[in-house]
Amino acid sequence: MTQEIGVALRHQTRSVRLAWGGRSVTIGGTAPVLVQSMTNTDTADPVATAIQVKELALAGSEIVRITVNTPEAAKEVSTIREHLDRMGIYVPLVGDFHYNGHKLLTQFPDCAEALSKYRINPGNMGGGKKRDDNFAQMIEVACRHNKPVRIGVNWGSLDQELLAKMMDANSQSSSPRDGRAVMRDALVVSAISNAQRAEELGLPADSIILSCKVSHVQDLIAVYRDLAARCDYPLHLGLTEAGMGSKGIVASTAALSVLLQMGIGDTIRISLTPEPGGDRTKEVIVAQEILQTMGLRAFTPMVVACPGCGRTSSTVFQELADRIQTYLRNQMPNWKSRYPGVESMNVAVMGCVVNGPGESRHADIGISLPGTGEVPSAPVFVDGERTVTLKGDHIAEEFQEIVERYVARRYGMIETST
Ligand code: SF4
Repeated sequence: MTQEIGVALRHQTRSVRLAWGGRSVTIGGTAPVLVQSMTNTDTADPVATAIQVKELALAGSEIVRITVNTPEAAKEVSTIREHLDRMGIYVPLVGDFHYNGHKLLTQFPDCAEALSKYRINPGNMGGGKKRDDNFAQMIEVACRHNKPVRIGVNWGSLDQELLAKMMDANSQSSSPRDGRAVMRDALVVSAISNAQRAEELGLPADSIILSCKVSHVQDLIAVYRDLAARCDYPLHLGLTEAGMGSKGIVASTAALSVLLQMGIGDTIRISLTPEPGGDRTKEVIVAQEILQTMGLRAFTPMVVACPGCGRTSSTVFQELADRIQTYLRNQMPNWKSRYPGVESMNVAVMGCVVNGPGESRHADIGISLPGTGEVPSAPVFVDGERTVTLKGDHIAEEFQEIVERYVARRYGMIETST
């Protein structure tokens, strides 16, 4: 139901295919909103990069972008693709190009062929005729290799000539707008005019994806609303330089949720700054959680857990909620094909009798742990019915076994009956 509502509201865009080795994924049209991410390894190190792409793909990234910034990096792209194919990691690779993409794509045809899409930033290609020539050269390579491109405009690297022209026109107008509004407009004009130029150069319209990334939530919402109103190219959403920790997650969620609710966005990337030594896959999990909590897609069974309060002084329920969520996520690579539909399962882990039994009854499977002063027992609810009551020191292990049996019984039926 929610899925249908989401699709019905979706801004209509063209379908763009990202193909490689006989496989493909589609962005836009009626395809689900895809999750993508980007490596932070040195692409010139093909083993480290292939390993990180694998980690991101196993975490759920459906497209992975890699930096292609030097001849050494470009030289290794086809090797990275081969490593991934050998490991059975079927995810399309996107090349991120700035300044020298026209040269690298021309000098390294294996790189141009191994990539499934090229990201072009028109603000980082020089100025004047040089810019036009470099852009034309990249589009010519895309046409020759039959590859789509993302024309990705950024606030931080906006085409300065275009911006100056638009600022001048604004200052001469009888009712000038504020400078920030003109900058937002310049981003949209830059993206659309470059897409039109790519089409004039021979790239089909269904080989073009657009993005206009900024670092402030309200600017991002305004820019993408405008972009969606003015074109039907699929849109890549993301708040650039979102930041670290909760700030980056909150800012990205705030901006993307508003746009997704308006039906805008065909693929998303959450640009989190990892903690030193932190796990790059976090950005994938956050992207999935945004889509799943909005009811647009399902990736992993969700655990509903209460926040805890003075009624439960032990950490047992927090530990159990964490253990079950981690367990469910870790099972998904295996469960995805064995238990179709399991990704929509809801599990409740609650801290006391106040909301525990009620919330657990609403979940597919739930447990209500004892609060302070309550009888030390934990009733389990399956499909709304109270089944067993767990007691003692092994509640966590026993509940996990109950979840496991429930998954096999409910979602394994399709497998056993075919
Ligand atoms: S379910 Fe119980 S422990 Fe959890 S927040 Fe509500 S009252 Fe507190």
